[in-house]
Amino acid sequence: MSNAYFTIAKPANDPFLGYLPGSPERAALKEELARQAAEVVKIPLIIGGREVWTEETIQITMPHDHRHVIAQCCMAGEKELKEAVDAALAARDAWEAMPWEHRSAIFLKAADMITGPYRKVLNASTMLGQSKTVFQAEIDIAELADFLRFGVWEAQEIFKKQPESVDGIWNRQDYRPLDGFICAVSPFNFTSIGGNLPTAPAIMGNVSVWKPSRTAALSNYYYMKLLQWCGLPAGVINFVPCAGSDISRYVISHPKMAGFHFTGSTAVFQSVWKQVGENISSYANYPRLVGETGGKDFIFAHPTADIEPLAAAIIRGSFEFQGQKCSACSRAFIPESIWPAVEKLLKEHAAGLKVGDVSELDTFMGAVIDKASFETCKGYIDRAAASPDCTFVAGGTYDGSKGWFVQPTIIRCKTPTCESMVKEIFGPIVSIYVYPDGKLDETLAVCDSASPYALTGAIFAQDREAIVKMERALRNAAGNFYINDKCTGAIVGQQPFGGARASGTNDKAGTWLNMVRWVSAHTVKESFCPSSAINYPYMSEK
Ligand code: NAD
Repeated sequence: MSNAYFTIAKPANDPFLGYLPGSPERAALKEELARQAAEVVKIPLIIGGREVWTEETIQITMPHDHRHVIAQCCMAGEKELKEAVDAALAARDAWEAMPWEHRSAIFLKAADMITGPYRKVLNASTMLGQSKTVFQAEIDIAELADFLRFGVWEAQEIFKKQPESVDGIWNRQDYRPLDGFICAVSPFNFTSIGGNLPTAPAIMGNVSVWKPSRTAALSNYYYMKLLQWCGLPAGVINFVPCAGSDISRYVISHPKMAGFHFTGSTAVFQSVWKQVGENISSYANYPRLVGETGGKDFIFAHPTADIEPLAAAIIRGSFEFQGQKCSACSRAFIPESIWPAVEKLLKEHAAGLKVGDVSELDTFMGAVIDKASFETCKGYIDRAAASPDCTFVAGGTYDGSKGWFVQPTIIRCKTPTCESMVKEIFGPIVSIYVYPDGKLDETLAVCDSASPYALTGAIFAQDREAIVKMERALRNAAGNFYINDKCTGAIVGQQPFGGARASGTNDKAGTWLNMVRWVSAHTVKESFCPSSAINYPYMSEK
């Protein structure tokens, strides 16, 4: 039940630690990296609060050193997935009945652990398992704590919204959790997203079956263990790494699936949406489908753009975390008049980026997540190399012998619709179209329509009228829009994140827009002095 007697103050974002040479956090992290690199963690399923060990396991390796095994992860099959659904449904009533402030305390405690003693554990596992540099891991883990703190606060703000009451009548809105369980399916690229997908519904009183990405299983498992340690009751979140097809077959098709919370590729979300549509008459409720999906994020420069921040935004926006942020810049539109100066800077910057082992803290880029991603990047690079329409401004090489390394690659395309300008690649490859200065309107129209996605986008210009024109032209091309800034780096509570078109349902993770999807309002009217009358006064003849 919601309970508004205990109010909490609006949280602040967790400040990032610096990891400067000589700092205590740097020393602690290095020690933790060495500890985690030296062990092979056995990851069980966690169903109904119990560890479940299965025969089928997969090896988790470091993307930047793919023979180095850091974990062995159990995989759920039909039996375990059905048990996970049963465990979630069995936990539902008690979890829903737990007073809101006690539910919230579990997540607030977890947030304090994440920003305190557990930070190094999650940072190190994110670095080693997902090949993030220290800063990329730090912003990921800080975001996880932000999701928890802002999630609890947003829940409180939702519960506070109550209808009008009049004399003798009390109207209440009871924000019930959904009538069933939530299926949360998360991607590899953010530990924070993995954590948030089952937790946001749990904050609103729901129970869930959580399928993490196999390539993020280590950090996600550490988070699950933390929630248990903080007092999350058995069965509220059930952790079940498994094949995607199995989660579809045994969990998404279940009649009591009341919501699906997803982040990942557009193709997977569309396949689930179709499956839910085909099964719609078998569900107890209309399942809520919330999905944040692919992107083809852009930076669009005007002839008046300030060149140095523009080049920096392309480099950081395209190559941090190997271009595997959903918000990563993967296409840019640059006017001819400034291209020579921009090109010179891009070449210089790209040549200076260190690609390698993320445990060496001067590394700028690690490896892409796995062999499949490496092959995808290789394919785009090879086809660009063979195309008369493409030339390399930087990079264009790869080496998968030790780690899945793809050099930061900048492709100049003669046409704004060549494949690397419009398809999501999800790797360290950015394509650039140089447009004639006189063709601003036409090029804006191409940017808006050439790709089906609408996640993030940035414009660079000094001229205010140009900014107004560009913002208007690209209003539906991005859910998160940046003016004179890179298109990545959204912060919970500051830039609510999500996109529309093929990029998702745009429910803005970490905000009330997302949290409200996990409740089904129940309206209660109570009359204090109920009337006994049948006839109305106007019916009188006198
Ligand atoms: P993915 O779609 O390959 O996998 C996401 C999850 O879906 C994984 O857990 C995977 O095992 C599971 N899955 C695979 N097949 C399935 C099926 N048939 N049924 C159910 N689940 C299935 O995505 P990924 O490679 O982990 O992540 C990269 C993608 O995520 C990119 O497209 C990126 O743009 C997107 N992403 C979007 C956002 C956003 O906010 N819009 C944020 C992060 C990532």
